[in-house]
Amino acid sequence: MLEGKTAVVTGASRGIGQAIALQMAANGADLAIIYAGGSEAAEEACVKAAGLGVSARAYKCDVSDFEQAKAASEGILSDFGSVDILVNNAGIIKDNLLLRMSEADFDAVLGVNLKGAFNMTKHLARSIMRSPAGRIINISSVSGLMGNPGQANYAAAKAGLVGLTKTVAKELAGKGVTCNAIAPGFIETAMTAALPASVIEYIDTSVPLKRIGSVADVANLAVFLASDQASYITGEVIKVDGGMYI
Ligand code: NAP
Repeated sequence: MLEGKTAVVTGASRGIGQAIALQMAANGADLAIIYAGGSEAAEEACVKAAGLGVSARAYKCDVSDFEQAKAASEGILSDFGSVDILVNNAGIIKDNLLLRMSEADFDAVLGVNLKGAFNMTKHLARSIMRSPAGRIINISSVSGLMGNPGQANYAAAKAGLVGLTKTVAKELAGKGVTCNAIAPGFIETAMTAALPASVIEYIDTSVPLKRIGSVADVANLAVFLASDQASYITGEVIKVDGGMYI
């Protein structure tokens, strides 16, 4: 489905990003994996992707840093020649109630989750615009659609990604590039590994499908949005949340 394409996935050393990257590789895409610190995990992901018969390379880059994002993008373009698909998945949480949230934690979460997506999109947009089927996929969150106590920084960043998605969709549509956002609910990864009992109870009572999502639930949609089958879908925000926010 993605043969001959090059996909850049940020935060692909683990979790949802790794699942998206490997599912894209399984569908034939060459891979540039961006990670922040987990070089061993990123290299392991590359080995798994190579086992699927595609080229894969890992790039260490803090996406919140404009110059690092530029250098990584230039490295990717020099190694792969061009980029067709960008998945802005890298994200962090630093939860606290508004009254206790520090300015540093607000800035850090906005920096990775929102500015990181801007940085990577800006540095790779020209190449993606030259692709016959350019795709940009931003990983938002239902927190950004509903708000969530303790996540003023994260919800603001994820809501900001929705505005970025719709604007990029409009600006790049003339070149045939689509830009969509995925808003996952609770997905089983390191980010949600230490869920308190109250959240597990919440999933049982407030998620109609009554289970936590898997990384594959999100990766399946990302691969579809990246494929030619989704060429008439742009500017959308699609929830993968088991019905949590209906
Ligand atoms: P995760 O397991 O914590 O993985 C986060 C990934 O982001 C890692 O690969 C990490 O790299 C990378 N990363 C962190 N800071 C970075 C930075 N400054 N620059 C580049 N890469 C950075 O997270 P996840 O649960 O898979 O979440 C992935 C995305 O889905 C995030 O955007 C998250 O907000 C969103 N999401 C998750 C859930 C959920 O329930 N899990 C729900 C809604 C939305 P290193 O390994 O090198 O640190």
